Amino acid sequence: MTDIDLRSDTVTLPSSGMREAMANAPLGDDVYGEDPMVNKLESELAVRLGFAEALFVPTGTMSNLLALMAHCGRGEEYIVGQQAHTYKYEGGGAAVLGSIQPQPLEVQADGSLDLDQVAAAIKPDDFHFARTRLLALENTMQGKVLPLEYLAAASRLTREHGLGLHLDGARLYNASVKLGVDAGDITRHFDSVSVCLSKGLGAPVGSVLCGAADFIGRARRLRKMVGGGLRQAGQLAAAGLYALDHQVERLLDDHDHAQLLAEGLRAGGYEVEPVQTNMVYAQLGERAQALKIFAGERGIKLSAAPRLRMVTHMDVSRQQIEQVISVLTEFNQQ
Ligand SMILES: *Cc1c(COP(=O)(O)O)cnc(C)c1O
Repeated sequence: MTDIDLRSDTVTLPSSGMREAMANAPLGDDVYGEDPMVNKLESELAVRLGFAEALFVPTGTMSNLLALMAHCGRGEEYIVGQQAHTYKYEGGGAAVLGSIQPQPLEVQADGSLDLDQVAAAIKPDDFHFARTRLLALENTMQGKVLPLEYLAAASRLTREHGLGLHLDGARLYNASVKLGVDAGDITRHFDSVSVCLSKGLGAPVGSVLCGAADFIGRARRLRKMVGGGLRQAGQLAAAGLYALDHQVERLLDDHDHAQLLAEGLRAGGYEVEPVQTNMVYAQLGERAQALKIFAGERGIKLSAAPRLRMVTHMDVSRQQIEQVISVLTEFNQQ
């Protein structure tokens, strides 16, 4: 029996079409700017998302770090969600490596930051304070999609106050297919965007940072500094290009599977939060560890968290979702 892995959408393996595209990729040294597929991926994604330039990087964490460091100098500040990846899950990189101070704010129930709270957190120009330079949002935020009107309002606010606006768009395409809009309709509100190819899009490795030419120039220098300059990276870029061409629309299947999973678990007696995209959150409380073991013995990989996150992706079929529902229902009835 093959494992059903719901811990994250990072666990996807390259499809056969993707492996073929990777095997056939022409290669060159990207630090010299000579890898054809990296150049193609960067220019294509920049165009699609409405930016002048883009930069291929190994991880989303590096992409966000380079963005924060390219927007903010030493002793400057970014406003960010208390639960945001850039603040909570990136090892404090912006503080350690960039000497950038975070100003975290509680994330609202819909995944947004309250813009009145953001405005109140922007520090006046006074030598007592760090200089506030940037607002960083995340979309999707724990599976929740930020409305386009909200993004427009955030953009107006940051412009009024002379701040930059960065999007951690690790799951940008989950948001765009959910809204039924071009990804560019989301990204046009931002000064910079980081997109993960290695999540639901199904590439094995890689993220892309997009922005203005001078911004990407600074990020490229920083990428070299932190050791992220890759050489013949074209096979990875080819996987990313393949994902963008063939594996975006199918994210809707993952969203359907997440709805199915949520409904099935509710019917099985679980308390499940409303689902928008490919993440299902269930309240397990103290039973989290026992469920992880029970499911693991039946070929289902779960995390062990009181608020359990299950993530659907291209390597989990509808039939496997039905299997998960039946195993978890059985657990709840014992
Ligand atoms: C996964 C993720 C990242 C980057 O993760 P890496 O594992 O470093 O590629 C950034 N932001 C969010 C919201 C993510 O889910």
